[in-house]
Amino acid sequence: MKEPKKSDTKIQDHHLPSPQFAALDNLGDGIYILNSNLEYIYENKRGEELSELPKEKFIGKKITELYTDLLATPTGKAIERVKKTKQMEQLEVFYEKVHKWFLITVYPLDGSIAIQVHDISIRKNNEHNLLFLAKASQELSQSLNIDETLKKLAKLTVPEIADWCTIDLLNNKGKLEYFTIAHKDPEKIEWAKKLRSKLPRNSSSGGVEYVLKTGNAQITPLVTDELLKKSIKSEKEYQLIKSIGLNSVMIVPICEGKKPIGAITFITSETRRNYTKADLAMAEDLANRASLAIENARLYKEAQDAIKLRNEFISIASHELKTPVTSIKAYGQVLQRRFMKRGDAESANYLQKMDNQLNRLSALISDLLDVTRIETGKLLLHKDYYDFDDLVKESIDAIERTIPQKIRVKVTTRKKVYGDKFRTGQVLTNLLSNAAKYSPETAHIEVIAEQKKDDVEVCIKDFGIGIPKEKQTMVFDRFYRVSGPQDETYPGLGLGLYISSEIIKRQGGRIWLESEEGKGSTFCFRLPIFIEN
Ligand code: ADP
Repeated sequence: MKEPKKSDTKIQDHHLPSPQFAALDNLGDGIYILNSNLEYIYENKRGEELSELPKEKFIGKKITELYTDLLATPTGKAIERVKKTKQMEQLEVFYEKVHKWFLITVYPLDGSIAIQVHDISIRKNNEHNLLFLAKASQELSQSLNIDETLKKLAKLTVPEIADWCTIDLLNNKGKLEYFTIAHKDPEKIEWAKKLRSKLPRNSSSGGVEYVLKTGNAQITPLVTDELLKKSIKSEKEYQLIKSIGLNSVMIVPICEGKKPIGAITFITSETRRNYTKADLAMAEDLANRASLAIENARLYKEAQDAIKLRNEFISIASHELKTPVTSIKAYGQVLQRRFMKRGDAESANYLQKMDNQLNRLSALISDLLDVTRIETGKLLLHKDYYDFDDLVKESIDAIERTIPQKIRVKVTTRKKVYGDKFRTGQVLTNLLSNAAKYSPETAHIEVIAEQKKDDVEVCIKDFGIGIPKEKQTMVFDRFYRVSGPQDETYPGLGLGLYISSEIIKRQGGRIWLESEEGKGSTFCFRLPIFIEN
């Protein structure tokens, strides 16, 4: 093909060499050519559609004559720059009036300028929809309070996706209720609420109730007058709907499982955005995510209710169990004394064994009660000053009588600590009895209590079975047992360390362990002293 000579492309006025430019008429992009005075000398067919000005009213006009403030816009500035620099420029521009995105390319021609306008609305819209979906999903996953989440979702929708967004949900009587309404202009919300209550929701061919009945989403890309007249019977309703100025509408169902339980309505009115199939797919995706969030919130609530019921049951059952256990213990002790008096040591010994088992039973019941207290925030601490070393020694004395191991003690804090003496004693007893329980083959346990800066620290060391590394972080979890719940060698519920760690944490302290499997464990805790002694 012959290269055009420079003079061929030099365009001085609107008398264009037609063969070269006729082809431009078939392009899907708008093409405009300006001469050096920034007067239009050419527009192709698509250009005519976009400018909504036929050639006769366009050609020969100065750019500022047709678009008075164009030179202040990014496009105008690009045109002026290209005129000076002779370097091609590209920019993405959103035109509010037609609600469309365009890629504008400004080319320098010899002494003149060509502008190509390419519609990129589909890509931009898809990008925008994806971003919106990501934002909305985050919102939906942030809270398990569904009312709050749906309200936030409706607000998020305007103005990004719609001028209006309403969410309707079925109430517990199965009746449809306006749940929330959002408008990009907050002042219009009250007006909108009143208006919505007057509008018909029952239509054989569309509307929220129809979407709920069929479970199918609905889209009306352009609400024409004809369409309105067809679907609305009374003149009053027609006038009301006209006052909203509906432009485009989408309604998508929200489902629980497969059953529709509500709908989200998206409306554009002032914004000349016409919803497309891609927008409907996005809206359906959004409604699916909302449905999932509702389902999650429901499951969470059910789980919470079940936990509450379980806690109530454990709390009541433990209380009820405590009374008969205490009575049995008292009767057993009376009997034990009687047998001793009569010289029946064997029977008295059986009763002692029964008493030991009753002590275990009471401890288990107390642990269960403590767990429910912790979970319902009712584990109350009674704080006072107490002698820390005395408490450690008392706890050791009490346990030493009941275990086979000897305890080596080094207690040197000499501190009065401000805290709950009874609960801290419970932690010591628990750690000491664990040390004994999990080191059945060994003869010693070591206890060291010392001052560490503003804290007191106790470490209880045994030389028993130890805990594998990967399980060490879990031993403070509720119901966690290294050897599993079925274990018969070391009976227990896996609650002692959980309760102990809560008691220590609530007093501003910290609890931890060091252990090696097969070699033994050291459990330590620290508590703040709080006062100068
Ligand atoms: P349990 O009633 O089962 O003893 P705990 O909450 O006191 O419950 O302890 C949780 C788990 O931690 C125990 O089941 C045990 O596997 C492990 N554990 C606790 N203390 C020791 C220890 N001194 N040596 C080895 N394992 C221990």
